Amino acid sequence: MRGFTTRALHGAQGKPDAHGALRFPLYENVAYTFDSARSAQLVFEGRKPAHAYSRSSNPTVEHFEQVVKNLCDAMGVIAVSSGMAAVTNVVLTLAESGANIITSRNLFGNTVSLFERTFAPWGLSVKYVNMQQPDSLAALLDDKTRLIFVETITNPQIEVADLQAVSAIARERGVPLVIDNTLTTPYLCTTKSFGAAVEIMSSTKYISGGGTGIGGLIIDNGLFDWRNAPRLKAEVPRFGPATFLMKVRREVYRNTGACLSPNNAWLQTLGLETLSMRIDKSCASAQRIAEFLATHPHIARVRYPGLSSHPHHTIAMRQFGGKCGALLSFELASQEQCFAVIDQLKLITRATNLNDNRTLIIHPASTIFCEFTPEENEAMQVPGTLVRLAVGIEDTQDIIDDLSQALEQI
Ligand code: PLP
Repeated sequence: MRGFTTRALHGAQGKPDAHGALRFPLYENVAYTFDSARSAQLVFEGRKPAHAYSRSSNPTVEHFEQVVKNLCDAMGVIAVSSGMAAVTNVVLTLAESGANIITSRNLFGNTVSLFERTFAPWGLSVKYVNMQQPDSLAALLDDKTRLIFVETITNPQIEVADLQAVSAIARERGVPLVIDNTLTTPYLCTTKSFGAAVEIMSSTKYISGGGTGIGGLIIDNGLFDWRNAPRLKAEVPRFGPATFLMKVRREVYRNTGACLSPNNAWLQTLGLETLSMRIDKSCASAQRIAEFLATHPHIARVRYPGLSSHPHHTIAMRQFGGKCGALLSFELASQEQCFAVIDQLKLITRATNLNDNRTLIIHPASTIFCEFTPEENEAMQVPGTLVRLAVGIEDTQDIIDDLSQALEQI
């Protein structure tokens, strides 16, 4: 198989453009004409492959999906309107009222909110487990568990689960493992090699690169026997291994209007082309910045898996090929100190995105996690003393200098 960057540039297996355009064009379009009424019927019934309506599929979005499919060596990919739409569509496809999801309490705040606040009133429950203790995971699984959900590196707690250990339990118990690969992307982590049934990503982040548009991806690695998924098994005789993707594409995705805009698909296809270089640069910077912060007298603690002091350093180095992403968190003495440092920065930008080209900083407890109480935030390892730094691709020393001058003010 060719290398990652070569595939990102040349990997589309889709249809060629009618004019042979080197860069696949932007089809900013809603509807597609049919030769006949019969042809329309066949397309709607899924018996003739063609686009009908851009809420179900679009050529530019399909092209993006094909590049990602090739990059991940996946069975199929569905691009959606955001990372949250990806999580929502996967859960709505696999779970039902009365069922449960198992995950770590250390998770992106909006995903916690989705599980606890949006889904709970519909009868879906979430069970939290310490992902560092695979035995507790095995003990928590029951016949109502519809999926295990793990972030490769949790945002912003920077926890790293042992994917091999989690996957072994999921496989043994016939439960799909869903991995959120947003912070590592297929460049650092091939979820297929860890046996994940489904990978989801926010393509808003690393894939966009310059923070150009919101987007998400649902990737079926083709490893799970969907006869073991209670909500899908009845469809398996008809759709075979493609059952999960068909259920998403032809029902949940279409009915929830979760489609990615063609413009964002076009920009994110462009972003993919330089993904590996941007990740290499930002990971190398994050490592140096983490080392700088770890020795700084004002910093109580740095959370970055590339540091040998991080409790999951060995797992992270093994899982992500020696690069540990570009998101790190650090703790100061108080929330006031966090605000003071953030306000003193002159180069690093105060903003909530991550894996942008620019380095961004935020105080999670008072922003992304502000809907939770201080006690809930403590339980999720997001204390008021925590600052999140998403390292970009600027010259490393400039980022260090900016942090240094801001920290000197306290
Ligand atoms: N998953 C993780 C790990 C994230 O960090 C985010 C956003 O920050 C999401 C999912 C949601 O992505 P989006 O903002 O594209 O909906």
